[in-house]
Amino acid sequence: MKGLAMLRINEVGWINKEKPVINSYDALVRPLAVSPCTSDIHTVFEGALGDRHDMILGHEAVGEIVEVGSDVKEFKPGDKVVVPAITPDWRSLEVQAGFHQHSNGLLAGWKFSNFKDGVFGEYFHVNDADMNLAHLPDEIPLESAVMITDMMTTGFHGAELADIQLGSSVVVIGIGAVGLMAIAGSKLRGAGRIVGVGSRPVCVDAAKVYGATDIVNYRNGDIVKQIMDLTQGKGVDRVIMAGGGTETLGQAIHLVKPGGIVSNVNYHGTGDFLEVPRLAWGCGMAHKQIRGGLCPGGRLRMEMLIDLVKYRRVDLKPLVTHVFNGYNNIEKALLLMKDKPKDLIKPVVLID
Ligand code: NDP
Ligand code: ZN
Repeated sequence: MKGLAMLRINEVGWINKEKPVINSYDALVRPLAVSPCTSDIHTVFEGALGDRHDMILGHEAVGEIVEVGSDVKEFKPGDKVVVPAITPDWRSLEVQAGFHQHSNGLLAGWKFSNFKDGVFGEYFHVNDADMNLAHLPDEIPLESAVMITDMMTTGFHGAELADIQLGSSVVVIGIGAVGLMAIAGSKLRGAGRIVGVGSRPVCVDAAKVYGATDIVNYRNGDIVKQIMDLTQGKGVDRVIMAGGGTETLGQAIHLVKPGGIVSNVNYHGTGDFLEVPRLAWGCGMAHKQIRGGLCPGGRLRMEMLIDLVKYRRVDLKPLVTHVFNGYNNIEKALLLMKDKPKDLIKPVVLID
């Protein structure tokens, strides 16, 4: 089979590989729709996870089951499935500790395009199909369904980690697809004022649709000053980091009130350290919590998010600005995600 792969840091290309072999609990899936992630860009073009050779990219897909192992009970060939970006080993101590994202090691629940071939192949392997796949309801179009697998679960996790309360004031730094979903998740959890930080007009428009009450453009100057001016010097209860560089942690700590929470779902792809501003952190005594997490995956998470889409609590269509048809367009879509033209939020490739 062929697949679009990271050949080495800074280089992608099409390669041929053997079709994956499945064990008794696994499934072999062929993609029906895929989307490249900004994380693929960090991984390839920043070498953020270290070197990877001839690893097929991609971790956002909906697909059709081709084959299942003998112990798989609830899925069969022909079923259409939502495939989470995170597919943990459910028999692990980290799962018992409550952190399936790190099953069998730090970030190790993230397998596709990290520790094994991703979903940009003609076929891909899913471990523990009964625990990691979810049935795709007919009502949800493929383009929207593929946004559930990573963008929605990640942005919503930003809102969960931030523990948004009814009426919380929130800043969301970064309003790409992840930040937009953090805004949508914050609104669903009952946030009051939501300030989105970004500049691309297409994202600004979508941020307002998803619930941003204010927009701050980081290109117009220091966001701490701009947001402090907006809030009469008070700052906000919660900050969700979903874009920007390592400097955003310091900004978030300045912006959050004592007792508040900074939640990070951004993938910091460069630099050795994230700096905490000592005074803004109350010399260590401000009760300003810093949390960060990889998005939740697995079947139950997907089913719960699917319900939010199916019962129209969230509309994912505004996230998808570009749709391509045909396998060969995956490379074009990936490079669009690297270049981020002004009219782009997310591209989706429908596979024939
Ligand atoms: P995008 O690149 O589409 O969005 C980034 C956003 O950050 C844009 O709104 C951009 O503004 C804004 N931004 C850029 N520079 C700054 C700055 N200096 N200050 C403030 N805002 C800035 O990314 P995605 O939404 O696709 O992904 C966001 C991050 O989430 C990525 O790092 C990605 O790898 C990560 N991620 C993490 C996951 C997890 O499990 N934790 C899962 C999936 C993704 P502009 O409008 O100008 O472009
Ligand atoms: Zn991703």
